[in-house]
Amino acid sequence: MATKMKSRWADDEEDAELEAQRKREKEEKKRAKAEKQRKLDEQAAQLRLQEEQAAAAAAESPSNQRELSSRPSKRRRLSPEPTVPQTDLPPAKLLRFPGAEWKRCRSVEDYEKLNDIEEGAYGWVSRAKDMTTGKVVALKRLKMENAQDGIPVTGIREIQTLMDCEHPNIVTLQEVVVGEDMSKIENIFLVLDFLEHDLKTLLEDMSEPFLNSEIKTLLLQLTSGVNYLHNNWILHRDLKTSNLLLNNRGQLKIADFGMARYFGDPAPKMTQLVVTLWYRSPELLLGAEKYGTAVDMWSIGCIFGELLTKEPLLQGKNEVDELSKIFELCGIPTEDAWPGFKRLPNARSLKLPKNPATHGSVLRARFPFLTSAGSSLLTSLLALNPAKRPSAKEMLDHPFFAEDPKPKSTAMFPTFPSKAGQEKRRRRGTPNAPVRGAAPDINAVDFSGIFAGREDEEKGGGFSLKLI
Ligand code: ADP
Repeated sequence: MATKMKSRWADDEEDAELEAQRKREKEEKKRAKAEKQRKLDEQAAQLRLQEEQAAAAAAESPSNQRELSSRPSKRRRLSPEPTVPQTDLPPAKLLRFPGAEWKRCRSVEDYEKLNDIEEGAYGWVSRAKDMTTGKVVALKRLKMENAQDGIPVTGIREIQTLMDCEHPNIVTLQEVVVGEDMSKIENIFLVLDFLEHDLKTLLEDMSEPFLNSEIKTLLLQLTSGVNYLHNNWILHRDLKTSNLLLNNRGQLKIADFGMARYFGDPAPKMTQLVVTLWYRSPELLLGAEKYGTAVDMWSIGCIFGELLTKEPLLQGKNEVDELSKIFELCGIPTEDAWPGFKRLPNARSLKLPKNPATHGSVLRARFPFLTSAGSSLLTSLLALNPAKRPSAKEMLDHPFFAEDPKPKSTAMFPTFPSKAGQEKRRRRGTPNAPVRGAAPDINAVDFSGIFAGREDEEKGGGFSLKLI
């Protein structure tokens, strides 16, 4: 009890002391505030005086008089300016940093549509004329699949990679234009250089294949474009004859960058659902998540074969069939020739024949008219082991291009009637690159499952691939 009383008394004393302290502090603050306000008023008065003096001086000049009278009156500055001594120096300039230059996209209405070139499963390409310049271009509408979240990634990559590329063997993206209703993604169009042909349509319409000298010119141009891409860390991932354009001056340009992407060193994990089946490398078919430039080199090998015969080289019906066709032509992978291939996701369930054919022998037999240099180049491009395929740079230096017949100069290239110039191109059933994000092809995903579930032999083009 006593403790409680004492405590309360003591508290009251302390409270009184605290109260007095608070009052002193309050008084102190009040004084400081009044002093600050006095200083501010002094400075403001000084500023007003300076402004009045400056205005009076300026009013003496007639030109300034005009300017001043047209200027809106300024709001009076309430905060004091830092006390900068008045000098005769010109006023300090603000540093200006140039921002990104935003330019509004032109409208597709600025182009007059001449004719459709291609209306594929996903895309739409037309020949059109720029009404300002009269220049004929190709208008490509962005693909729509999986676009519910905005511009599809294929479209973004196509624009991004094409904008970064400048090479005679890569199609030029002139600009991106939009339709009236910009809220619709399908109203975004790429304006590309127009080329009269694509190699696929051309090969289908030719009675005879290209001459060897012409094949060399085409391959050199293709490889030169691919070399540029790889040097700039871009994988195309959908090289095929329908994506190679040719103009009437014999110039080849790589098109369709919807599957393209930047890569790095070491290669990042990437989807295997890329490259049209007939041009897809064995490492992709076996489920490799890390791959590199060699996937494009494989496709170049397939294109080389197609240029020689006018027919796609490896026309598998599905992934299993494609692999079996590859093994039939290029041999069975062995641990010696392709160390580590068995660790690839879809290779674990493969049961392969014990006595594989030697790589190259079947291939040489299939192209008997190819010189040994040509045959060695094709064989190396179609090496099962991606590490054994030449780089684009190595391919450009290959002796095949130095031997007779020499590559034909583009100026001497034959011209062909252009289908794209007049009518729509209609394809015979050529598969497309896998659609990103779409329900994947069951064979691509359940590959190992299909293998594991089969006890018998899966027949593919006369070649047996034993699967467990
Ligand atoms: P998609 O991505 O829909 O497959 P592509 O870019 O591959 O579209 O073009 C489809 C077809 O349109 C090509 O095979 C070619 O016939 C034609 N094409 C594409 N770009 C051009 C172009 N710049 N000039 C002429 N024809 C073109």
